[in-house]
Amino acid sequence: MADELVQGMKCRLCGKLYPKEPLNFCTDDFGPLEVVYNYEAVAKTLTRSAIQSRPNTIWRYRELMPIDGEPTVGIHVGGTPLVKADRLAKALGIKELYIKNDAVNHPTLSFKDRVVAVALSKAVEFGFTTVGCASTGNLAGSVAANASAAGLESYVLIPDNLEQGKVLGAQIYGAKVVAVTGNYDQVNRLCSQIAFRYGWGFVNVNLRPFYAEGSKSMGFEIAEALGWRTPDHVVVPMAGGSLIGKIYKAFKEFELLGLLNGPVQTKMFGAQATGCNPITNTVKTEANKVRPVRNPNTIAKSLAIGDPADGFFASKLMRETGGWAEDVDDDSIIDGMKLLAETEGIFTETAGGVTLAVTKKLIEQGKINRDGSTVICITGNGLKTQEALLGHMPKLTAISPTLVDFEALVGAAPAAELADATV
Ligand SMILES: *Cc1c(COP(=O)(O)O)cnc(C)c1O
Ligand SMILES: [Zn+2]
Repeated sequence: MADELVQGMKCRLCGKLYPKEPLNFCTDDFGPLEVVYNYEAVAKTLTRSAIQSRPNTIWRYRELMPIDGEPTVGIHVGGTPLVKADRLAKALGIKELYIKNDAVNHPTLSFKDRVVAVALSKAVEFGFTTVGCASTGNLAGSVAANASAAGLESYVLIPDNLEQGKVLGAQIYGAKVVAVTGNYDQVNRLCSQIAFRYGWGFVNVNLRPFYAEGSKSMGFEIAEALGWRTPDHVVVPMAGGSLIGKIYKAFKEFELLGLLNGPVQTKMFGAQATGCNPITNTVKTEANKVRPVRNPNTIAKSLAIGDPADGFFASKLMRETGGWAEDVDDDSIIDGMKLLAETEGIFTETAGGVTLAVTKKLIEQGKINRDGSTVICITGNGLKTQEALLGHMPKLTAISPTLVDFEALVGAAPAAELADATV
């Protein structure tokens, strides 16, 4: 039954059709391949009530996920909270704001578990027993964890400058973690060579069309949680530029299937760090081509892809939906992390700081309308990028366990002043 839902793949440039196979580019023009569904068949079983009767994971939308059988990897992924963020909305001076909080996604605390669950379920269908990835950090941990749980061997290749939390957070699962001297683009090129030479399933190389579809689940969850409607604005952090496009694709698929209460009128906004801004730069300069950034330099390492695979399509999407893009420097990223933590109690990684700081900037620029509804996508957890905060928090001075000392410390001056005085 499920077999006919996923028809095959199609080149996004020339439209050439391909069967379901571990291949990510068109052999005629190197255009990216995208999964094609039979939406008439999907509509027969994917109704609101069917969705609501299923467990709260990405698989409740399984007809729109590119696997043929039942999922075998990442069964519990997804279903993260959409938090109504009133205190943050007030701080930003807007009316209706929500945080899609993938900082608490299961099992590795980033949105990457969504794409990995789908890619590895597909890898199992294809018969791969060894899988891998090129990673800026979060994908490393997610592939390692989900591969272990599925009994697959994994190779994880990373640039050699990643945060300790990301490196340990991949090694602990017994994955073969390989650090490479060079930036992400160089790591990615090496992974392409390895995947095709050894016949392994690399989630973001030869399995990329299937992997990328997993990101749609974030869009489905947002629309469902808002009562089957889509927000006026969505702000999305961009690395390779895939997630932003897939959230929008999810909205359009729900619309096509008649699952929404109104038409999709969402404007898509993209966020990057100024130290690696190939996509936001394309949008802001209204260029037709993405100019790669040769030497990314930012604390938002998870977003540091200088030559983004989906940068062109992401830029086009932001333009066509009436959205926009911005980038922010490292100090603003830290401020963004603090603001989210202090207003909503959510500790995000540097990428989340980027998203929040960019949102603030876009509101100040008038690109995001203060009266509309806005969803901010928080995609990773702050516990993994603690280095970024070193030196940005007040130093602790221990007191003796006496009231006298406590009052000397706290009572003598308000906590905030004290904190300032000790930096
Ligand atoms: C990978 C990643 C992204 C963006 O993913 P793309 O689909 O490559 O644009 C955003 N945030 C975090 C934390 C990530 O790890
Ligand atoms: Zn093509």
